[in-house]
Order: sequence, then C-alpha cells, then structure tokens
Amino acid sequence: MKRVFSGVTPSGHLTLGNYLGAIRRWVEVDQCQADALFCVVDLHALTVEHDPGRVRRLSRQGATLLLAAGLDPGLCTLFVQSHVDEHARLSYLLECVATDGEVRRMIQYKEKVARERARGRSVRLSLLTYPVLMAADILAYGTDEVPVGDDQTQHVELARDLAARFNQRYGQAFVVPRATPPRVGARVMNLQDPTSKMGKSDDVGPGIVYLLDEPDVVRKKVMRAVTDSGRDVVYDREARPGVANLLEILAACTGGNPSALSGVYESYGALKKDTAEAVVEVLRPVQERHRELCADPGYVEGVLRDGAERARAMARPTVDAAYRAIGL
Ligand code: ADP
Repeated sequence: MKRVFSGVTPSGHLTLGNYLGAIRRWVEVDQCQADALFCVVDLHALTVEHDPGRVRRLSRQGATLLLAAGLDPGLCTLFVQSHVDEHARLSYLLECVATDGEVRRMIQYKEKVARERARGRSVRLSLLTYPVLMAADILAYGTDEVPVGDDQTQHVELARDLAARFNQRYGQAFVVPRATPPRVGARVMNLQDPTSKMGKSDDVGPGIVYLLDEPDVVRKKVMRAVTDSGRDVVYDREARPGVANLLEILAACTGGNPSALSGVYESYGALKKDTAEAVVEVLRPVQERHRELCADPGYVEGVLRDGAERARAMARPTVDAAYRAIGL
C-alpha cells in the first residue's frame, strides 16, 4: 500500500483554502486508499514571530478540526509534529545535504521574508530552513505521495531532490516522494485580493473564510468578494481572477466544473449567493462535529497520543538508518 504524508501548520485558524485544497482530499481519498499520516506541524509555526500559548491552542484546534472534517484514526495516523523527535533529528542531516542556494530560491521564503520585513520584524533562520524540515517530515516516513495544494509543490520538489541526493551519496535511505497532482480548489484565492492565496494569516481578514465562521459571516464575506467592473460571468483566471475564484469555490463545493458553471449565471450577485450557500453547506457538518469533539477533549488527547506513538515507530528505523549511512 502506498504511503501518504501531509500536514497543516498551526499558524492561524484553518481556512476554506486548507479544506478545499488539501483536507477534503485527505478525508475522501487518501485515508481510504493509502497508509496515510497527517500531522499538525507545530515546529513550522515557530518560523515567524509567534505567541507560545496561541500556537499550543491552534495545534489542538487544528487536530480537532481535522477529526471534525472526517479524518478517522481507525484509518489514518493523526499526530503533532513536536511529539515525534525524529522530524528534528532528520532535518539536521538534510541541512547537511541541502545547499544554501537551493533553499533561498523558494518562492514562499522570498514572500515571507518580504512580509516579515514589512512588519519590521527580523527574519528567523528557521524560515530559511523550513522546507528542509518539511522534507524531513516527508522522508522520515518513506512517503510515496504528498497531497498538497499548489503553493507547496516547490517544497515537495526540494524533498525529492534531497532524497535522491542523499541516496546517491550515502546509499539508499529514502523513498523519493512525489506531489499528488492538484484538483479543482487546488488554489483558493483571497476574496478581497484574488491575486493572492487565501492563507491563514495573523490578521482576521474579510477575504478569508475560516472553517469555524458562522453561516452569516460566510455569507457576508462571499457577498462582499471583490470581482471586477464587468457584468457577464466568464471563467478567466487571468483577466477575471475574482469571478474565476468564486466559480472554482462553487465548483469545488458542489462537484461541478468552473467553466460549465460560468454559463449558468447571468449576474455576479446570483453567483455570489449560490457560492455562499454552497460554502455554508460544506462547512455545516464540519462545524457540528467540531462542537461535539470540543465537548470531549480527552478523546482528542488520546488520538494524538496514539498517533505519536505509531508515527514514532514508523519514523525511527528510517532516521536511525540515515544516521548510520551518513557516518554517525
Ligand atoms: P497555510 O498556507 O494556510 O498556512 P499550510 O501551510 O498549513 O497552509 O498548508 C496546509 C495545506 O493547505 C497545504 O496542503 C496547502 O497546500 C493547502 N493550502 C493552504 N492554503 C491554500 C489555498 N488557499 N488553496 C488551496 N490549498 C491551500
């Protein structure tokens, strides 16, 4: 059975982008068809200025939401990254294989550096090494496939390069992973700025739909989405990014096709109304289950404890072998 690994960072509240781009696929496809591991990657949340209590709360909330979205601990392994030491152990070895030049080329690094500088903050070294730790997350488990949104494909490429380079220099230690090809919803854009992705940020943005947003909040955000001055509904990502984003969200929520859906609508208002309702319906069962799980914190604790134990047992032999191979 193929092995699949993926994760979410507890750097903010989970968004509709995380759900449509990644989590829904983990639930519907990956945990059913593969030996799948899903991880709340809390070490990654320390790469930019952070509040310790908030990261801890968001880790717990992230895991709870993944269960609410349908991850089933009977089918997959769900755990928190910092509970398994092997990630940090392997990351150091991979830093000794990666080059300074290749990590500096990462688009996300450049974007995040610009954002930190604009906020007057210093850039942490861990922001540069972030994709190397991500490679360790993936390689520690002998992962075949990494189902991620579009924004992460460059990082998965790096993990591939590092695995192949390590194997070539020190002997076969790692499976060379590949990114799972994206589907509709692979890149959900910010409703207020449809040229940038809907990412969880430190600020509560009107352009970001969070998984725990109340139905009326979702409606308000979608109805206020930025479109353009045109009137006809056409699917064109370049010329009409706002409308294209709404069509993609609607298609991802209803199982339709954005191009076909564009022919159904004669006004932006009608498109927004249906998109809002479709999002509300997709989020409803997740929010209901989240409420139930919050009433039973011991259950979530238990799932994460078991998950970490299972993950540790899988990662340790691979990481120990890599230590021996590299000369330690
Ligand atoms: P974020 O960028 O929101 O901090 P993470 O790094 O935690 O997200 O990524 C979790 C998963 O969600 C990844 O697979 C990522 O590709 C996916 N993802 C994040 N934002 C979006 C988006 N706007 N559209 C589609 N997928 C996304």
